[in-house]
Amino acid sequence: MKITEHIKNAKGKTLYSFEILPPIKGQSIQSIFNAIDPLMEFAPPFIDVTYLREDYIYKQHPSGLLEKVAYRKRPSTVATCAAIINKYKVDAVPHLICGGFTKEETENALIDLQFLGIENVLVLRGDARKSDSSFIPTPGGHAYASELLQHVVNMNNGRYLHEDMENSEKTDFCIGVAGYPEKHFESPNLDTDFKYLKNKVALGAEFIVTQMFFDNSKYKAFVDNCRANGIHVPIIPGLKPLTSSKQLVSLPKIFHLDIPLELSEAVQACKTEQEVREVGVEWMIQQCRELKEMGAPVLHFYTMGNPKPTKRIIEAVF
Ligand code: FAD
Repeated sequence: MKITEHIKNAKGKTLYSFEILPPIKGQSIQSIFNAIDPLMEFAPPFIDVTYLREDYIYKQHPSGLLEKVAYRKRPSTVATCAAIINKYKVDAVPHLICGGFTKEETENALIDLQFLGIENVLVLRGDARKSDSSFIPTPGGHAYASELLQHVVNMNNGRYLHEDMENSEKTDFCIGVAGYPEKHFESPNLDTDFKYLKNKVALGAEFIVTQMFFDNSKYKAFVDNCRANGIHVPIIPGLKPLTSSKQLVSLPKIFHLDIPLELSEAVQACKTEQEVREVGVEWMIQQCRELKEMGAPVLHFYTMGNPKPTKRIIEAVF
């Protein structure tokens, strides 16, 4: 079912959903099931599967220079989605990124997704490869999420890249995009970032999933700004509890977000990592209670392979 229909059918009741990562090299699908099993009691209508881009493998050349020898392969997002649908009978939402795909490869991936009965996709630009300092579009691929979105919309309208595909079955994807309550880090200001988000919705995005945040006032301002500017699609807050003291530094660095003073001071006052986890979970429980009151349609948790904190939080707010 489409995410928009799940939300409509819930008639204002808050839903709970999860994001997982595909298994890292060498791990079996069981590692994914172990991360999902404890959360199934909350009846998630959908589970997102991120796309992790392959990175280069380097080999030391006799001259001392590092030489690119191959891409690191990972089990695919599509395969992980198929396994989830098969085991849990819930909707799996693959993340589809621009980076690493030519337009033809994107189209082939979407045809596979349609074949699997997948009805929702989250379209993203993707991050820069670790080996690159900024995002470099793949030759023959898309440079922005909006271009990828347009490609999916074209396929939904039966317009394929090549004429000989024109008689293929139309796809019928419900398309989501990313939104950043605290601004995308490359954007010069919130308004510019917002302009591009608005464009993604005008092109056909039907829901927005936000970057994680620890201050609900940022989410509220973001939603208010969207509504005031005519964006009326559901805005799903993306959430992750703080689970270690190191994350006071790593989360702002990686995800370009602020950690509120009250939370950072509470973490700094902890004597053990166990205490930090308690503080992180309690903070997120309060955030979730408020978000429910604000009418957030879905609380979407970035589980990062660890279901325990998410389970405790939902048990407290369910
Ligand atoms: P875009 O919407 O393309 O925006 C990228 C930047 O370009 C922004 O600064 C925007 O303001 C600007 N911009 C947009 N359009 C234009 C234009 N036409 N001209 C000039 N500037 C423009 N990354 C992964 O690699 N895999 C994942 O699975 C993944 N999942 C994610 C899930 C969520 C919910 C979120 C919030 C992020 C996720 N990311 C993932 C990270 C995401 O790929 C990065 O944040 C990336 O840097 C931007 O992606 P985007 O789709 O927002 O890009």
